[in-house]
Amino acid sequence: MTERIYNFSAGPAALPLPVLEQAQKDLISLGDTGIGVLEHSHRSKAFLAVYEAAESLCREIAGVPDNYKVLFLQGGASSQFYMIPMNLLSKDQTADYLVTGSWSKKAVKEAKVFGNVNIACSSEDKNFSYIPEAVSLSEKPAYVHYTSNNTIYGTEFATEPEVPAGVPLICDASSDIFSRPIDISKYGIVYAGAQKNLGPSGMALVIIRDDLIEQGPTDIPTMLQYRTHSEAGSMFNTPPTFGIYVLGQVLQWLKDQGGLEAVQQKNRAKAGKLYDYLEQSSLFKPTAAKQDRSLMNVTFVTGDADLDAQFIAQATAAGLDGLKGHRSVGGMRASIYNAFPEAGVDKLIEMMSQFEKEHA
Ligand code: PMP
Repeated sequence: MTERIYNFSAGPAALPLPVLEQAQKDLISLGDTGIGVLEHSHRSKAFLAVYEAAESLCREIAGVPDNYKVLFLQGGASSQFYMIPMNLLSKDQTADYLVTGSWSKKAVKEAKVFGNVNIACSSEDKNFSYIPEAVSLSEKPAYVHYTSNNTIYGTEFATEPEVPAGVPLICDASSDIFSRPIDISKYGIVYAGAQKNLGPSGMALVIIRDDLIEQGPTDIPTMLQYRTHSEAGSMFNTPPTFGIYVLGQVLQWLKDQGGLEAVQQKNRAKAGKLYDYLEQSSLFKPTAAKQDRSLMNVTFVTGDADLDAQFIAQATAAGLDGLKGHRSVGGMRASIYNAFPEAGVDKLIEMMSQFEKEHA
């Protein structure tokens, strides 16, 4: 078998090896059923057990309160950009959006189809390199939406923004979900595309409070109503069975690692090493404001596009893949989600030190 290399991809991203090994076995036969996980009916006893395990692990790990539903929906996080306003925003209402990156902007664009949008803050003036401190909410927002981690720019909210009592807080947590403890009760909805910390792309995990499910209109397409999926336990149509299976395996792995507190410690240690190195480097510079740096996506540049390209080429050749930064930031981005091993971070720092010496 080809040896695995260090995959710094922003998503789809590295998954835990034990999960992939188990999936390999379950592809042929899920348990002793003689039928692979991709081939089981979503209504089969074997798959229902997979589904229930995934849901209950999610509830356990994140401490999801009883008045919330856990939904596994299709269309990735981007489908939530329109499903949320379609269900929760009417023409005469305003929703508040904290704009901290291009994913937030994409969410705003969809919300404008359904109602008014108040940009409560934006860090676009400095190419989204920071999280704004001042947030200016509208008088009676239908909800407040923010992106907890900005995958492209390497910034992350340290804590959730404050919202007035009764206003639902909605979080796109695609790139930092389950990377640290989360108090679900502070939110109306937390959603995430699965392909970073949860599993395969194409699926979104949506944790939604019951009253918001009931609130949505009934004269929109059935598939786009939260109540449809809530009532049918995400089985109104054929759900993303493989995605749910992998998510369940990843969450079991996460639990075995000690849960969210433990994984946060590891994430702090991994990112901390990298930022400590960047702080003292005379060649590589971090691009995100110090107090807002992400533990998941570490962005940095040399300041010289040719040198950046040279470094990326050398790193790739040495088995460190996916380090090229997003085109809107340039330079490098090391995405080090939960499953990314600390040894890969050590290897990256070693390479950077070497490169720095050669180009001093
Ligand atoms: N939000 C954030 C923060 C993201 O990083 C991404 C994908 N990189 C998305 C939303 C979109 O997710 P999807 O591709 O699953 O629609």
